[in-house]
Amino acid sequence: MLEVLRRVTQEVNAAPDLASALEIIVERVQTAMNTQVCSVYLHDVENNNLVFMANRGLNPDAIGKVTLQLNEGLIGYVVERAEPINLEDAQSHPKNRYVPEIGEEEYHSFLGVPIIHSRKILGVMVVQQKERRRFDESEEAFLVTLSALLAGVIANARATGLLSLPRSARQSRSSTFKGKSGAPGVAIGTAVAIYPLAQLDNVPERKTRNIEKEIALYEQAVALTREEIRSISQKLSDRLGQEELDLFEAYLHILDDAAISGEVIERIKLGQWAQSALSKVILEHVAMFQSMEDEYLRERGSDVRDLGTRVLASLQASDSRKTRYPKATILVGEELAPADLAAVPRDRLAGFVSVKGSGNSHIAILAEAMGVPTVMGAQELPVKLVDGKPMIIDGFQGTIITHPTNEQLVYYENVIREEEVLVEGLEELKDQPCVTPDGHRTFLWVNTGLMTDVARSLDRGAEGVGLYRTEVHFMMSETFPTEEEQRIIYREHLLAFAPRPVTMRTLDIGGDKALPYFPIEEANPFLGWRGIRVTLDHPELFLAQIRAMIKASCGINSYMRIMLPMVSSVGEVDEAKRLIDQCYREITEEGMDVKMPDVGVMIEVPAAVYQARDIIRRVDFLSVGSNDLVQYMLAVDRNNSRVAELYQEFHPAVLHALKYVVDCAHGEGKNLGICGEMAGNPSAALLLMAMGYDVLSMNSTNLLMVKKALTTITLSSAKKILKNVLKMDSADLIKDYVDEQLRAAGLGQIVRTRQY
Ligand code: PEP
Ligand code: MG
Repeated sequence: MLEVLRRVTQEVNAAPDLASALEIIVERVQTAMNTQVCSVYLHDVENNNLVFMANRGLNPDAIGKVTLQLNEGLIGYVVERAEPINLEDAQSHPKNRYVPEIGEEEYHSFLGVPIIHSRKILGVMVVQQKERRRFDESEEAFLVTLSALLAGVIANARATGLLSLPRSARQSRSSTFKGKSGAPGVAIGTAVAIYPLAQLDNVPERKTRNIEKEIALYEQAVALTREEIRSISQKLSDRLGQEELDLFEAYLHILDDAAISGEVIERIKLGQWAQSALSKVILEHVAMFQSMEDEYLRERGSDVRDLGTRVLASLQASDSRKTRYPKATILVGEELAPADLAAVPRDRLAGFVSVKGSGNSHIAILAEAMGVPTVMGAQELPVKLVDGKPMIIDGFQGTIITHPTNEQLVYYENVIREEEVLVEGLEELKDQPCVTPDGHRTFLWVNTGLMTDVARSLDRGAEGVGLYRTEVHFMMSETFPTEEEQRIIYREHLLAFAPRPVTMRTLDIGGDKALPYFPIEEANPFLGWRGIRVTLDHPELFLAQIRAMIKASCGINSYMRIMLPMVSSVGEVDEAKRLIDQCYREITEEGMDVKMPDVGVMIEVPAAVYQARDIIRRVDFLSVGSNDLVQYMLAVDRNNSRVAELYQEFHPAVLHALKYVVDCAHGEGKNLGICGEMAGNPSAALLLMAMGYDVLSMNSTNLLMVKKALTTITLSSAKKILKNVLKMDSADLIKDYVDEQLRAAGLGQIVRTRQY
C-alpha cells in the first residue's frame, strides 16, 4: 500500500492540470482498492456547491455537469461531518439522495472521505460497490491517508487549473490566492517570476515571438550536452565497467530521440520559449515512465529527468537575456533572498510574493523596511504560470489577485490613495519628539540592514538605530567580507546617522538566514547553530567583526553600541565580552583613539528572560528581540506559514515575560528597548510604553504611526489599559481590546490588522 500511495502521489504531482490529476486519482484508487466505483467531488467556491469532477464506474457524461448543494445527499453528509462515512447499504440511509444522471442505484456499499486542506474542505473522495458490506479498516485507512496526501496537491492543481484555461478565458478570469500578510501596502503591477536555475519543475511559462532563435538555442543546448556526456564517458572509460558505460550510451540515445526533440520543437513553434517547452516535454515523459509497473522502466524516468536537467542548465547558461523588470514589477518566487530584492531597480519595484515563509520571516521584515508591499506563504500560487501577468497584491490581508477585474482595480487604487493620505497626514509628526500628552518620553528608533533603509529612516524622523542587522551585508556577499570591507560599510552607516546612536548587532546567521557560501544544514535550524553560537565557535569571524565596528566608530561624534543575538546563558555573554575587550585593547594599543562601545544583549529566548537580571548586571543595556522570543515561547516556527495563526505577539505568556524583563532591567538601573516587529504595531507599542520600555525600535515604515498613537494617548490611560490586559487570558481578546481602545481614541486608521 505504501508503494501505491507513493506512486499515486508522484503521478498526481506530475500531472499537467487538475482534470488529469483527478483522472489519475480515480483510476489508481479503483485499481488499488479493487472497487467498482471511485469518484471525486470538488467544492466550487464561486457557486458554493459540490461538482462531480471525476469518476470510474458511473456515467461518464455526468462529469462536470452534476452538482450538489453543500448539505445534499451522502456527499453533503461527509462534508457536514468532516469525517469518513462508511455504510453497508447507502441506498437505505436517510441522507441518501437519488441522482438519476449518475446511475449509482445498484451500488450499496459506500465509503466517502473528505479532502481537507488547511481546515477547508476541498471535496469528497468516494468508493462504492454493489455487494452490501462495510469497507474494512485497512481500506478506510488507505483512502483517508490518500486523501490527506492529495489534499495539498489538489489545492495546488486547482489553482493551477484556473490559470491554465485557454487564453480567452484567462484574460477575463480573475483568480484570488491567499497568503499571509508580509509587509503592509497594496501593489498593482506585473508579476515577474524568479526561479532557481536547473530545476525543471520551476521554469516559468513564457511566450516567444522569435521562434527561430528559440529553436537554435535549444539545438545548441542539446549539442553541448551531447558533447559533455561524450567527453565524460571518454574520460572515465578506463575506470568504469561496461554496465556504467552503457548508461552513457543510453543517455545519448535519449538525447538523440527524435520524439523528445520533436515535441520540444513543436511546442516552441506554438510560441513557447525553449525553456518551458523543454521542461514540459521532459516532465510528461518522466510522468509516463513513473506510472509504469515495471521497476526498471520506472527508473528510466530518473534518467530522462537527469538528462532534461542537463539540457536545461546548458540552455540557461547560454541564454544571455537579462530578466526584464517592467514598471511596477511584482517579484514572485518560491523563496526570496535579499539579493533578489536588491536586483530590481527601486523605481520599478512594486511588491513581493513568496510561496514559502510567513510575515515573521526575515525576508518579509527586510521588505517591510524597504516599504515594499509583500505577501508571504502563498502556497497555492502557481509561480511558473503567473510570469508576465497583471497582478494586485494586498500586503495587509495577504491576498494576491491575478488578472484583476476593473472593479478590483478601482477598489485597490482607492486603498492606495487612502494609505497615501494617511502617510501624508502623519508627516507633520516627524520632527516632534515622542511625548505623551501627560509628558512621558519614549525614544523611537529604527531597524536597518540595507543602505537603502537610511534615507527612509531619516526621512521619518528616526532618533537612532536600535538594530542594525549586519548579516544582510554578509548575505549579499560572495565570501565572508573582510575586516576592512566591513569597517567601510559600518562607517558609512554610522556617518549617515551621526550624531544619533547606532546599535550594531553581531552576525546573526542560522535559522532562516543562510549565507550562500557557508551553508548550515540542520534538522531544526531555529534550535540549532544560530547567532552568537556560530560566532563564538568561530572567534576569527567574531573578532574581525568587532574590530571593524570599533574602528568604524573612530572620530565619529556618535554613539556606537554592540549587541549580541540569541544569547541563552551568561557564559556566552562573558566569553563575548572577553573577546570585545581584547579587540578594544588591541585597537587602542595600535594607537587608534576610540571609545569603548556599550555592549548589550538581545533577550530572545525564554532562558534569557528568566536570567535577565544576571545578564543585565554584566552589560550596559538589553533589547528584546520579540520576533524570536514569540517563536521560542510559543513553540511556533516564525518561518512556517502553516502555523502562522499561532504566532501571537499579544499572547498573555509573551506579555508577562516582556513585563518581567523591564522590571529586571529597571531594577538594576539600566535602560532597555525592544527591536522586534511588535514595537512597530501601534497597539503593541502602547502596551510596551506602559510597561516602561525606554526605546522602541522598528521598521521605519511604521514609525510615524506609532508616534501618532503614543502622542495621542496618555501614559496614565496606557497603564490602565495594560493593567486590564495583564488580567486577560487570550491573545485574541487582548488584541481586540487594545485595538478598540485605539479606535475609541480616534486612531482607527492606524490600527494594523495583519492577517497571519
Ligand atoms: C528579533 O528576533 O526580534 C529580532 C529583532 O531579530 P531578527 O528578527 O533579526 O531575528
Ligand atoms: Mg532574532
